[in-house]
Amino acid sequence: MPDLNTVLRETWEQVHGQTMKDDVCKRKILRPEDPTKRQYLTVIYSQNIEKWYLTQAIPQFDANGKQICFLCDPEETGSGLIKTAKSDHMTFLLHPRCSAICHYLILTDEHRPNPKVKDFRFLREFSTQCGSSVFCNMKNSGASFEPHFHAQSIFVENGLPAIKNEITGIAYTNPHLTIRRLDFPIQIMEISTIDRIGQNQVFNTICQIDRPYNPLFYNGVTYVLPRIKSFPNNANFKFGAAEVFGLSFCKTLEEYNATTYDQYLDHLLDVAVESGSSAALDFEAWFIDQLEKVSV
Ligand SMILES: [Zn+2]
Repeated sequence: MPDLNTVLRETWEQVHGQTMKDDVCKRKILRPEDPTKRQYLTVIYSQNIEKWYLTQAIPQFDANGKQICFLCDPEETGSGLIKTAKSDHMTFLLHPRCSAICHYLILTDEHRPNPKVKDFRFLREFSTQCGSSVFCNMKNSGASFEPHFHAQSIFVENGLPAIKNEITGIAYTNPHLTIRRLDFPIQIMEISTIDRIGQNQVFNTICQIDRPYNPLFYNGVTYVLPRIKSFPNNANFKFGAAEVFGLSFCKTLEEYNATTYDQYLDHLLDVAVESGSSAALDFEAWFIDQLEKVSV
């Protein structure tokens, strides 16, 4: 794994050096008015990413009208994504236009929609070894292309904003793992595993989630965030996993300038489940029930 880490960072630095030169990139931190709250959200705009969405990210279709998989064929579709490294069953594609942050797409070599336990095991291990935040846009939870399961990896010091918040309580514990609640406006379960049995319990359960959600891995810890939908009301842009974990990538400068803490919070509460609500407790209870049922 150290070799993989080196390859990924070095490739990004080379490409980043070229793309950064002509980029216009802005970043701001939004905080609530209540000074006792430590929660904050980060918003990024990059002209390079805006250009990418307007050109290379446009879906391509074959003669039968079927969308070509830009993950299986990153070059054929002109996506600009660069095959950089491989594990035993997953491949890393560098997003060269995402100059604000070291960004990789991590896809299964098999073209399939649903994740398997071995995918999550690898993604968690990679996040631990390489110190990156790894997250997945799932069905109705920010996915823009569902037929091919993939994750995204970005290098953010200390992980995405949401997971830096304090623990407010323990939801569940057994000899192999502990589930904690985070102090964040929307529900996030922080799951620390002690051994391989705990990991198997968690990953098997995540694979069985039958409703929208986003998983995230950072520093060996797994986070699960239940969702309601991809698009917030009164907004024409999608909230992906990065957005619900507190890092919003705006597609236009206007959108970036207009984003305030309260507006961001409204969108979060629209697309995900409010902390402490009955929906949050229902999801938690369902998750724990599944966890106890899975055979490992
Ligand atoms: Zn594919």
